[in-house]
Amino acid sequence: MRKDFLTFGNPLIEQPEIDEVVDSLKSGWLGTGPKVKKFEELFGKYKGVKYAVALNSCTAALHLALLAIGIKPKDEVIVPAMTFVATANVVIHAGGTPVLADCEKGTMNIDPADVEKKITKKTKAVIPVHMAGRSCDMDAVMALAKKYNLKVVEDAAHAVETEYRGKKAGTFGDIGCFSFYATKNLVTGEGGMAITNNGEYADKMRILSLHGISADAWQRFGSDGYKHYQAIYPGYKYNMMDLQAALGIHQLKKIDKHWARRQEIWNKYNEAFKNLLVFLPAQIEPNTKHAYHLYTLLLNIDNLKITRDQFLEKMTKNNIGVGVHFIAVHMHQYYRDRFGYKKGDFLSAEWISERTVSLPLSPKLTDDDVNDVITAVTDVLNQQRK
Ligand SMILES: *Cc1c(COP(=O)(O)O)cnc(C)c1O
Repeated sequence: MRKDFLTFGNPLIEQPEIDEVVDSLKSGWLGTGPKVKKFEELFGKYKGVKYAVALNSCTAALHLALLAIGIKPKDEVIVPAMTFVATANVVIHAGGTPVLADCEKGTMNIDPADVEKKITKKTKAVIPVHMAGRSCDMDAVMALAKKYNLKVVEDAAHAVETEYRGKKAGTFGDIGCFSFYATKNLVTGEGGMAITNNGEYADKMRILSLHGISADAWQRFGSDGYKHYQAIYPGYKYNMMDLQAALGIHQLKKIDKHWARRQEIWNKYNEAFKNLLVFLPAQIEPNTKHAYHLYTLLLNIDNLKITRDQFLEKMTKNNIGVGVHFIAVHMHQYYRDRFGYKKGDFLSAEWISERTVSLPLSPKLTDDDVNDVITAVTDVLNQQRK
């Protein structure tokens, strides 16, 4: 057994990131300044969009995206039952009602057929989530949006590198939202980005992200002299700091290198686990690019003596950090209490919820780390066959 604990989602931070943060500290621009601007330009260019607005989280990006497209009280927004709770929480923040749709068992992504069943006169938008870095069926989602006149906000928290039929994730809908949280593919500690080709949406999100005032601090206190500002909305405090962008600028430069390493680990896991009592991640769809954000096994618990949670415990005892992505939204207390959701409402999301386990997939993993994960998973599963 390995001696030290292998942390799940350990980011790979190297000297260029460290030097850039130190440069920010020395320059005195800690808040939103030139590095945020540069990171926005680089990310917008990477995605091929007109506007990129850097924020302090993907949750903030999703919230502002819903405000920008005009979600109001009583509006319904369809979100997958299989996602992180933030995807649904933001609909409530914006004053709307989240309406859940089930996912496809194999891909874990939102099921367009169930989305269509959930559409009412009040439905204004849908938030597809590219689970684990695999693109949703965007042809089907965009066809529904067109048919029912819905806005689309993509939760691309897992999907910086994702592409679907030659088009980049986050550029299908009206606004695409990304996360740079410490465990994500591109990390700034905490951080997020909203991208769009709509200038009005971009302006509104930018203004709302900083108190609702019409000029940001960098412009206010820059070398052109002090400028007055006007509050035009009761805004939020969602802006990204230069200290965070300093990390992002260099993380983005290494995006392909890190992706290639995760792909290598992914393929090694697939080969190692193919005969165990698990369902492997769905095969990569042709003409798409998977972001390889989460390597998720679905445990064949019907043929195992242990539950998923007992498997997690055993992995931890073996010094391997693991994650669960996710417990379905409708199984959370708040969603059960407020909306009356219950077990049995979303069968595919529940099926995944009870079986899913994510293994370490950071580009920081050494070959020895990867072998330690493989050994632990193989030993535990083989010992627990029924
Ligand atoms: C991580 C995550 C978020 C939230 O991202 P933050 O940057 O932590 O706010 C939203 N949606 C999904 C699917 C996520 O995995």
